Amino acid sequence: MGRLLPLVALFVAGLSHAAEIAIDIGHTRAKPGALSASGVWEFDFNRTFVRALELQLASVGVGSHVINDSGKVGSLSGRTTLARKDRFFVSIHHDSVKQRYRPVKDPRFKGYSLWVSERNADYEGSVRCARLIADELLKARFQPSHYHSDAVYGENRPVVDWDRGIFSNNQLAVLAAARGPAILVEVGVIANPAEETVLSDPAMTEARARTIATGLQHCLAG
Ligand SMILES: [Zn+2]
Repeated sequence: MGRLLPLVALFVAGLSHAAEIAIDIGHTRAKPGALSASGVWEFDFNRTFVRALELQLASVGVGSHVINDSGKVGSLSGRTTLARKDRFFVSIHHDSVKQRYRPVKDPRFKGYSLWVSERNADYEGSVRCARLIADELLKARFQPSHYHSDAVYGENRPVVDWDRGIFSNNQLAVLAAARGPAILVEVGVIANPAEETVLSDPAMTEARARTIATGLQHCLAG
């Protein structure tokens, strides 16, 4: 028995670094991403949302592993290395618009979007999970945004699934570097003052996180 204990300890230590879902907090404290309409950095929104998602995943029995909790992991490939033992990688972000459309008044700059990369090791698996997450978001009446696929209002990004708000961007290095299926979630548009108010509401954050957690649970079950 005495000889077995170190082996058991080694096994448990190995398990503690493997989770079903790696949840990446987008950006860093030093480079905090987009600025909201009221002047809050995207990193703060991302971190708050990841905490809510972690709780909601736990409540449906899905283990998660938060990446970049310190806000200091600047390297994107470093993030996927930290997640190398996890089954699925999801990076959490909040969206913005081109500078010339700020301050935002146009209602098209609103809603969630889900992103995949054809450079990912499991593109089909990534799209399948993005569809399952989008189905839950739509069921809960969250609306997708489409402006990134527009040549004028966005960047002409390829559409994977218009109705579900799924788009492709092969320049997203974190998705390309992930070793398994991976998606990037733009939870909503913080540059839009009306949507920022909703995204700042803890009850709404919990509702969105619960919805995405259910989608991820279905994704793993498949
Ligand atoms: Zn971002």
